[in-house]
Amino acid sequence: MIEIKNLQKNFGPHEILKNISLSIPAHQVVAVIGPSGSGKSTFLRCINGLETITGGTITVDGHVIDANASKKAQQNEIYAIRRKTGMVFQQFNLYPHKTAVQNVMEALLVVKKMPKEKAYSIAANLLEKVGLAAKEDAYPSQLSGGQQQRVAIARALAMEPKLMLFDEPTSALDPELVGEVLKVMKELAEDGMTMIIVTHEMKFARSAADRILFMADGVIVEDAKPAAFFEHPQTARAQKFLQQVT
Ligand code: ADP
Ligand code: MG
Repeated sequence: MIEIKNLQKNFGPHEILKNISLSIPAHQVVAVIGPSGSGKSTFLRCINGLETITGGTITVDGHVIDANASKKAQQNEIYAIRRKTGMVFQQFNLYPHKTAVQNVMEALLVVKKMPKEKAYSIAANLLEKVGLAAKEDAYPSQLSGGQQQRVAIARALAMEPKLMLFDEPTSALDPELVGEVLKVMKELAEDGMTMIIVTHEMKFARSAADRILFMADGVIVEDAKPAAFFEHPQTARAQKFLQQVT
């Protein structure tokens, strides 16, 4: 599903991602962990073209972003990748003046030009899937952070993505609301969605992911199965990180 070769990303003179190569098969659930500033968000943002890349190639479901291709060619591939990718951020970014169901319908109406009744039926189903059937007509301000984030997940799912990217989806939530969002993500993983999740929730990473990528200083330092990573981290960096967070 994803093939990354020699990915490099600079911001000005700073090399933020250093020659990352990696492949992720369909249906795999990958948790990306590591210290703040190590490049995790930048890595996700490169995958769906929110950042231009400095070097290398990123292939998602057959579409190739090549740092050496023309800007226009890259942009076309980025559009194709975005159509297949859902992204969920730490901040939920819902439209404040639209209800939950209208938020989920929006892209179906605007991007897919779907008739209203059909969009509504899909959106209502998705809200039910994330446990919010009763909140269809609520505005974001009337929802808890955990409910808003579940609406954001339903909204991303409306476009039927083949890949879901999550950037610290529970970091802005009060502790008691984290579990309801992780539960929805876990169900999505069990449904077979290909997912890359940047998270600080180590218990979740261990139980829901198939694979852990530990990043530090723009490099993937460890790439291992969760049990192996958490029980026997190979590098001093990972050992120190795990001591600090667990
Ligand atoms: P993480 O998500 O692991 O905390 P980031 O990917 O956000 O790390 O950031 C990695 C590094 O890139 C940091 O040093 C950060 O300051 C830098 N960085 C991120 N975005 C930008 C930007 N738009 N311009 C310049 N530097 C950036
Ligand atoms: Mg980040």
